[in-house]
Amino acid sequence: MRRKSKVVKIGEVKIGGGHPVVVQGMTKTLTEDIPSTIEQIQKLQRAGARIVRVAVPNMKAAKSLSLIKKEIEIPLVADIHFSSELALEAIKQGVDKIRINPGNMGEKKILPIIRKAQEKGIPIRIGVNSGSLKGIFPLKDKSNLEKHQRIIAKKMVESALKTINLLEKEDFREIVISLKSSDVLTTILSYRLISKKTIYPLHLGVTATGPLFQGLIKSAIGIGDLLVEGIGDTLRVSLSDSPLKEVKAAYEILKSLNLSRRGPVIISCPGCGRCKIDLNSAIKNLLPKLEEINFPLKIGIMGCEVNGPGEAREADLGVAYIKGAGVIFRKGKIIKRVKEEEIGETLLKEAKKLIPQ
Ligand code: SF4
Repeated sequence: MRRKSKVVKIGEVKIGGGHPVVVQGMTKTLTEDIPSTIEQIQKLQRAGARIVRVAVPNMKAAKSLSLIKKEIEIPLVADIHFSSELALEAIKQGVDKIRINPGNMGEKKILPIIRKAQEKGIPIRIGVNSGSLKGIFPLKDKSNLEKHQRIIAKKMVESALKTINLLEKEDFREIVISLKSSDVLTTILSYRLISKKTIYPLHLGVTATGPLFQGLIKSAIGIGDLLVEGIGDTLRVSLSDSPLKEVKAAYEILKSLNLSRRGPVIISCPGCGRCKIDLNSAIKNLLPKLEEINFPLKIGIMGCEVNGPGEAREADLGVAYIKGAGVIFRKGKIIKRVKEEEIGETLLKEAKKLIPQ
């Protein structure tokens, strides 16, 4: 039951209109360091990013964009704050989409960007960020938290709607919207609100989520909740960590809601007193092997033979560890026993038999 939204094309990638939710990545290199930026984009592409955004904070970065675009295969998005000159240069360089932040760009600066984007036939993302909104003050009385979150959500939506209005007045409708806050509930509230007020596709994300562990949880709750409600056409997970982990996390969120078929879903037990091996290390060793399976099989990795196959009955295939060996099972039924060092290869071989050719 996904929210109905307009289709917007970014390069060759379609978002909205019921198309599969698209995972985006963002580079963390200096954009003007062209070789490093290209290398990072290529890695993001291999990790599954279908669109990539780069920061464009200065003219040197803007003028690097055409050279970067030549070497990559996924659509390139320029992330612009404050300056219409940078946006105009990015469009001239051939980017596939522009992201602007209406919190730091007034009507006067946005108008020439709309006209240029219109001329080149590329979309614009109106990327509202709660931190850039004017008239928002830090909360003094914590008992008013919910009211504060609702006020910010409303202001973010107002900012987006005002900018949508400006674009539509110019007859520009290739629009994508995002409303990001570092507060999960504020983010959820603002997307819920905007989803009822516009048909444009929504780019989901919780911003400035923090270090890996915290960031993963905040992103999974914020983005996950919205996806469960049918809201969201594309997403980017942002973490204070490697951009490759952001893409991986985005797919894990989608896979846990059956919204992506990229790679296996691992069902592994937490381990307990019945487990006779170092299960965490065994899982860590197996994962790189299992990631070679480019199909959404459910793979069980369980810590004992007595309960493992049964507890992982919903897995298509799996292993239950015993000391120095593994019991391979399919849909809860044991099919063979192999030595510990043969577990990875055996799982791969058995997985291939289950993948439709
Ligand atoms: S599968 Fe075995 S080791 Fe894992 S949690 Fe269950 S009983 Fe414990």
